[in-house]
Amino acid sequence: MSRQNAQKRIGKKKCPNCGATIPSYPRYTPWCDHCNWNIQPDNVETQSRWQRTLSQQLAKRLFDQMRAEVPPKRLTGTHIAALLLATLIYLFHVALLWAGGWLIWSLSFGRIFAGALLIYFSIRALIIRYDELPPDMLLIDDKQFPALINFVREVASRLDVPMPQIVLSEQFTATFARVGPKRQSLLCIGIPFLALLNGGELTSLIGHELSHAHDGARTRSLYVQNARTALESWHALLSFRGLAQHSNMAASIVGVCLFALCFPLRVILIGSLRLFELLVVRDSQRAEYIADLQSLAVAGNRDAPQLLQKSCYRYLGALHEAYANAPLHQKYSAIQQRFADIPQREKERVWRIAKLQQPKLSSSHPTVSERIALLKNRRDIPPAYVIDAQQFATIQAELQRCPQILHGHEIVYLHEANETFVMEGVELSAVSAD
Ligand SMILES: [Zn+2]
Ligand SMILES: [Zn+2]
Repeated sequence: MSRQNAQKRIGKKKCPNCGATIPSYPRYTPWCDHCNWNIQPDNVETQSRWQRTLSQQLAKRLFDQMRAEVPPKRLTGTHIAALLLATLIYLFHVALLWAGGWLIWSLSFGRIFAGALLIYFSIRALIIRYDELPPDMLLIDDKQFPALINFVREVASRLDVPMPQIVLSEQFTATFARVGPKRQSLLCIGIPFLALLNGGELTSLIGHELSHAHDGARTRSLYVQNARTALESWHALLSFRGLAQHSNMAASIVGVCLFALCFPLRVILIGSLRLFELLVVRDSQRAEYIADLQSLAVAGNRDAPQLLQKSCYRYLGALHEAYANAPLHQKYSAIQQRFADIPQREKERVWRIAKLQQPKLSSSHPTVSERIALLKNRRDIPPAYVIDAQQFATIQAELQRCPQILHGHEIVYLHEANETFVMEGVELSAVSAD
């Protein structure tokens, strides 16, 4: 359907809440700009009242500290609690290893077997490892993506951070991680998200992600993170999911019995993981603000708010549909074309929902509104590095080939394709444009 035809089919309807006349686009959710009918954030009901109050107070305090440029304390109560919890977990593993050794020493066959299992799983939980790369991600090198890699190298050198390994994915986001015993930097960038960005926004995005390399928060240290990973490893092991869902009935019954037997242990593990979450979340949120601010040194603050707004367009169902349905060699351009065709009113609906999101106790990021408010609170900073049009076009040409290179892997991007927000029986998602 052409854009002109779509424009012709725009109708009008009355808002059922306030009676105002509102435009109605075919196959897009109607909403009212007068009373915000059909505009609801998706997390309003997931927090109890005390959680909501506490998360709002903590978020406000952190925002005020960032705005006033209060330097973070090197050691706070939550840091000490997180370090203590991590130490307890390591001591617990020492006790498990000692118990395993003691069982083996008893020289009875059953006990040797139990001791060996205990030692094996304790070491497995503790060992620092590179996470395996999921099949829908692609580790890239200079030969395949020279322009993109040179660009990231340029941003990294201007921020004075190490050059990361780069992974491309089909997710609508970008992430930064440090993996393995040497804490190797890993930058993961999602092709559908990159397809929506201009040169300035791309610089801002890479600047933000690479700035995470500066993050020296104690709760994000290897010591604390590895203790947390060990807990997650035990939690996964003791859920016996593989056994409980086994097609063999006997194996499945054994799995369910073991699951029930280990239930009290799992409760302790889940409680400890939640506690960890609470202890690290403030550092995580602060790290996002800091990465936003540090990226200004290279990208300035002209494009950063627009970048954050575009990150919310992952909730535009029509984009997911366009990417999923296009042939491999056209996926990149299909998402760009669909983005241009989506009515501005639909983008505004998604953006308004995003702006209404409230702070959450467990959220690793501040809300988009808070991040934009902090960026706008700074004086205008021009970008120190502007990518030229030719370089940007070359990067885009490289990225266009990426879905074909990924071909052969299982594409799991579709899991969000039909994502809908259902609030009080009203479906809020835009599923398709034409
Ligand atoms: Zn209304
Ligand atoms: Zn970040």
